[in-house]
Amino acid sequence: MIPSAAKPLRVVLLGPPASGKGTQGKRLAASLGLHYLSTGALLREQVEKKSDLGVRAMPILARGEYLPDDLMCPILADWLSRHPGGWVLDGFPRSLPQATFLADWLAAHGTTLDAAVALDVPIETLLGRIRERVECPACRWTGQKPQLGPGDACPQCGATAGPRPDDDEANFLRRHREYETLTLPVIRHYQDLGLLRLTDATAPIDTVSSRILHSVIAS
Ligand SMILES: [Zn+2]
Repeated sequence: MIPSAAKPLRVVLLGPPASGKGTQGKRLAASLGLHYLSTGALLREQVEKKSDLGVRAMPILARGEYLPDDLMCPILADWLSRHPGGWVLDGFPRSLPQATFLADWLAAHGTTLDAAVALDVPIETLLGRIRERVECPACRWTGQKPQLGPGDACPQCGATAGPRPDDDEANFLRRHREYETLTLPVIRHYQDLGLLRLTDATAPIDTVSSRILHSVIAS
């Protein structure tokens, strides 16, 4: 399945919250032998290291908010300079200024973006996924209600699992509004540039992975 691309591919993955970006990003990167970056994981790492940026990011992340561009862009530039090969970015760019920053950074390093994959999932479907989310209070496993065993047993440790806290849905709606305001313009921007690979992500996970992979290889 690995294409014999002469140059390593550079791909950004866009999509609303709960669209499966993390799962699909990791799979795409593994299929193509690329680095995978989750900005969420990167930020947690900066916070743990107590780096200058991490210390500034901590209170913002604690409120469940996204970082402003002037904090996020230098963190990303640092990661990019440490990963000169190809990559899949999950969580960046999430605004037009971030997309411009990425294009400028790539141009300054003599390269370009190959594809922007956008996962398309209607908000009703996303809300359904949010409402089905369950969590195990004992081992912190998270998943969907149908994955639970008899008596709502956690598939990992057997303790009784249940719905996640009520603020989940409100948090999702807030993030979704931010996605529509900030990230939909990024998707239109990549469409104008001919880089957009819009993928219906309501299908089963394996089907979506396969669609994404083929759309990117065709780049
Ligand atoms: Zn458990």
